[in-house]
Amino acid sequence: MSKKVIIIFGPPGAGKGTQSELLSESLGYYHLESSKIIERCFKTESPNKVYTVDGKDYKVGDEIASWKTGVLTSPPLVTGLMMEEFKKLSQDGESFILSGSPRTLYEAEKEMPVLAELYGKENIHIAMIEISAEVTVFRNTHRKICELMRHSILFNKETENLTLCPLDGSQLVKRKDLDTAETIKTRLIQYKERTLPLFDYFKKEGFNIHKVNGEKSVAQVHEQILKAVT
Ligand SMILES: [Zn+2]
Repeated sequence: MSKKVIIIFGPPGAGKGTQSELLSESLGYYHLESSKIIERCFKTESPNKVYTVDGKDYKVGDEIASWKTGVLTSPPLVTGLMMEEFKKLSQDGESFILSGSPRTLYEAEKEMPVLAELYGKENIHIAMIEISAEVTVFRNTHRKICELMRHSILFNKETENLTLCPLDGSQLVKRKDLDTAETIKTRLIQYKERTLPLFDYFKKEGFNIHKVNGEKSVAQVHEQILKAVT
C-alpha cells in the first residue's frame, strides 16, 4: 500500500481540526497540524531566537506579536518548520493528514513539490471544505479548545454545553486573544486574499482536489472526505 498525504483545506471554522482528528482515527494516519508546530515553536523557543530562512531573519518575539493580532505567521518560517516534519514522517514511513498548511502560494510552491517527491503526486489528496462567511464567523466566535491537548471543539448543538474535552476530559477554554470578532475578521480576509488562490495552484499542478460541503453535520462531512480520499 502506498503511503498517503491528505490535506484538509478550508476557511477558519470549516472544522479542519475536528475532521482531521476523525480521519486520523479512522485511517490511523498521523495528524500534522501547522498551528501546533507553530505554537510549540513559540512556547519552547526564546522570543529572541532568530530563524534564518532563504537569507531572511525571522524573530520569534515579532512572530508572536503578529500572531496575536490574527496575522499569519511569516510563510518562510512556517514552511521551514513544516518541511522538517515532512521529512521525518516520510523517513518513518508514515501516512499523514495535514491541516492548516500550506496557507499561502509561497508555502504551496515550496511544500507541494517536496511532498510530491516524498509521497508521489497521485498519493496526495486535497479535501476542500466549503462553508459560507456567516457560518465561519459564527463558529469562530463560539469556538473552544481544551487545555491539555488543544483539541479544537467545533460549535454546534451537540457541543454547545460541553465544559470538558470529550477526548481527554480536560477543561474547555476560549482562546482569549485569538477568537475575538476583530481577529476572526482579519483571519477571514487573510484566507480570501492569501489562501484561496492556492486552489488554482493545486488545479494547475494536477493535484487531486475533492470539494466537500462543510455545512453538513460533522459525521456527514467526515463521510464525504473518507469517500473522496480512499
Ligand atoms: Zn482534548
